[in-house]
Amino acid sequence: MSKSEDSQSKQASELQEILSDFSQFYIVIMLNEGPIHGYGMIRAFKQRTGKTLSAGTLYPFLQNLESKGFVSKKDESTGKRPKIVYSLTRKGRSFCDRLFKRFQSITVSALEPSLETCASCGAKVYEGAHHEKVDGVELAFCCVHCAKAFITGQ
Ligand SMILES: [Zn+2]
Repeated sequence: MSKSEDSQSKQASELQEILSDFSQFYIVIMLNEGPIHGYGMIRAFKQRTGKTLSAGTLYPFLQNLESKGFVSKKDESTGKRPKIVYSLTRKGRSFCDRLFKRFQSITVSALEPSLETCASCGAKVYEGAHHEKVDGVELAFCCVHCAKAFITGQ
């Protein structure tokens, strides 16, 4: 196994370990939107999903993310009100990018098995892709103009 394959499979198992359920995935989404405090996450989770996010799920998970270096926290408590604000670190952001890309490719292939990508501009083609043989290989394009641009190299 090469070094890069090894780190890829390590990343994949890291993702699986971290995202053992939907609430955890949603916590990552909320963190990705910007710095947020714990109670804010519980409130936003309820508003947006209609489900309850328990402190017993949230805080150990945040701690886990912090121990992996994905999240940093800042104490913004005022007076008697404790307020710890969590935000993604640079490492956490690149983790999110990988995670969302991976998730996107999983959901896209699950929801849209017939989805094609334009070989010229990269647009996703839901139906009615234009097909053209280029050097003996049939490629999909979003429209004839893209196909023409691709073939003439313009
Ligand atoms: Zn196109």
